[in-house]
Amino acid sequence: KQQEVQSEKSYDTQCPFCSVQCKMQLLEQSIVTRKKYVTIGKDNPASEGRLCIKGMNAHQHALHNERLKFPLLKINGEFIQVSWEQALEHIKENFYEIQAKDGLNALSVYGSASITNEEAYLLGKFARVALKTKYIDYNGRLCMSAAASAATQTFGMDRGLTNSLSEIPFTKCIILAGTNIAECQPTIIPYFEKAKENGAFIIAIDPRETATTDLADLHMKVKPGKDAALANGLLKVLIEEDLIDHEFIRKRVDSFEEVKEYITSLDLEEIAHMTGVSADQIRFAAKTFGQGESGMIFTARGVEQQTDGSAAVRNFLNILLVTGKIGKPNSGYGAITGQGNGQGGREHGQKADQLPGYRSIENDEHRSYIASVWGIDKGDLPRKGVSAYEMIEKIHEGEITGMFLMCSNPIVSNPNADFVKKALKKLKYLVAVDMFVSETAKLADVILPASSYLEDEGTMTNLEGRVTLREASFPSPGHAKHDWQIICEIARVLGKGEYFSFQSAEEIFNELRVASRGGTADYYGITYDRLRKEGGILWPCPDIEHVGTKRLFEKAFAHPNGKAAMTLVPNSPNVPKEEPTKEFPLFLTTGRVMSHYLTGVQTRKSSSLAARNFESFMEIHPKTAKEYHIKNHTLVKIESKRGSIIVRSKWSEKIRQDTIFVPFHWADSQNINLLVSKELDPVCKMPGFKVSAVKIAPLVES
Ligand code: SF4
Repeated sequence: KQQEVQSEKSYDTQCPFCSVQCKMQLLEQSIVTRKKYVTIGKDNPASEGRLCIKGMNAHQHALHNERLKFPLLKINGEFIQVSWEQALEHIKENFYEIQAKDGLNALSVYGSASITNEEAYLLGKFARVALKTKYIDYNGRLCMSAAASAATQTFGMDRGLTNSLSEIPFTKCIILAGTNIAECQPTIIPYFEKAKENGAFIIAIDPRETATTDLADLHMKVKPGKDAALANGLLKVLIEEDLIDHEFIRKRVDSFEEVKEYITSLDLEEIAHMTGVSADQIRFAAKTFGQGESGMIFTARGVEQQTDGSAAVRNFLNILLVTGKIGKPNSGYGAITGQGNGQGGREHGQKADQLPGYRSIENDEHRSYIASVWGIDKGDLPRKGVSAYEMIEKIHEGEITGMFLMCSNPIVSNPNADFVKKALKKLKYLVAVDMFVSETAKLADVILPASSYLEDEGTMTNLEGRVTLREASFPSPGHAKHDWQIICEIARVLGKGEYFSFQSAEEIFNELRVASRGGTADYYGITYDRLRKEGGILWPCPDIEHVGTKRLFEKAFAHPNGKAAMTLVPNSPNVPKEEPTKEFPLFLTTGRVMSHYLTGVQTRKSSSLAARNFESFMEIHPKTAKEYHIKNHTLVKIESKRGSIIVRSKWSEKIRQDTIFVPFHWADSQNINLLVSKELDPVCKMPGFKVSAVKIAPLVES
């Protein structure tokens, strides 16, 4: 019998687990002698009050009794509880020693796209001003770098969605390329369902059938790694059938003729052979998209996490440019961000090559402006560093000997994970900031206890570019601190307190606003007061009277001449960089399941979420499984050039016969990234997570 709730308190918050940033309420119910917690959705423009299973259970990890409550210091291989003063003193001595012996750049910073905008901003400033190191990058490199690079190259700026979510129901044709929204961002699926009800034609491009492809009218089961070539096929039909917008191209697009010349030289049958998608399907998809009076294209990690991910995304953007379906109502592009602050995390200076406001660290004017905001000499601002995985290589090379790691788990999330683990073990000094003792934090010399989404106030920017304010609901447990407080404390003991004297997240935001002013990601007109009153504001928002920008590129693109830049993406036999061989005959592709987030540090702590998927698995076509003598639900060894793992098989006719799928939320012997190729996209340095070559065998002969 249900026990009666005697009293109830409610706390407004936001889900930490994906880029939709659903608003929600945590209800604290008192029942006799115990408290019960329930999370419910709250109305907002992005998710309209909906929540998925992760949001409903987010409080379980935040209230978990394994949360870190004190700083931990490793002595003789064991962690002992210490005071903040002791931990900070230890960090100061070791940071000083490393930089004195090995140079300023020997210290590195590894950030996160799950922290608030204020913390992302502060971390970039901390690296450049307090540590004076060029080596800072973050886990968003593994997530958003291809889409960000493609949009910047093509449009001159990068905001996840060029139009707000509310326009999706009114578009006439949608291409979903390498995105599994139904599992990863489930609360926005109703926008696509409404579009379908309104007569939209949906085309999905994915090597697997998923809950998202089920929504599609046409599913093109592309061969892993061949998305860019498929986009060339679509472009060919559009150009040859004259389904292009000549006036739009003439007025608003650069370099079309050069691309056209290449595209028309291609053979559609060859593309069909290369991509595994029939010429008829390519023709039909292109015609349907071209003939629609409006259209949108969405990409996600399936297209982006490739060794040519940035080029593949650029080619999908080329489709929008030739058809003129951008900068107009119900027509545009969307990169479906994964991490909670995947958008904001990439705007404020955590990237190796970037300063706040999406400024370039190599641009003299940009350097001068940010140096003036920070009150330092431009000459003291470090130059460009290297990407996340390349920092790991720098550890092996001995150039980086210390690391400050914030809310990230790189030994599980990076490709070639054993190489990454060996690198972090090699460091002279590692400081990890986390809520739990993650797999990476175990290797640290000091672990600093961080606050969760329930405790940490700050702004987040959702996949649309909508800036929202997440208020703090709870005090941090024990002696845990907010990430921004931790950064300020370390800067203070390092003698840089004058640059980090912030007393609140709002004070940091006010500096961020100024730092972003005039940049492409301009937050200057956004204030905490406005966010409290208005709920959320879409950037760019250059002044306090500005209502925010719902739709981008209506009049001009962000390149200096106002035009978009088409770029040729040749079909390359070297893409993907790793393909099946006689020894490793199958494609491995990886991705998410609905109940887990990233490396699972948080969601594996939630009993309800862990119960839904308590272990990893290998999805395999039954015909392939039989060929390799693998029964359903039995243990199987998967092996690549880099290592092996053991997981349970799951037969499914929804996957291509030459491909297996394994999710990436598990660590240790189930960590699929132990197998994943370390090859990087040469432009954006995104690892090619989505395509590796593997062999499989039953663990026990069946
Ligand atoms: Fe919303 Fe994403 Fe959280 Fe699900 S995981 S509740 S879709 S923010």
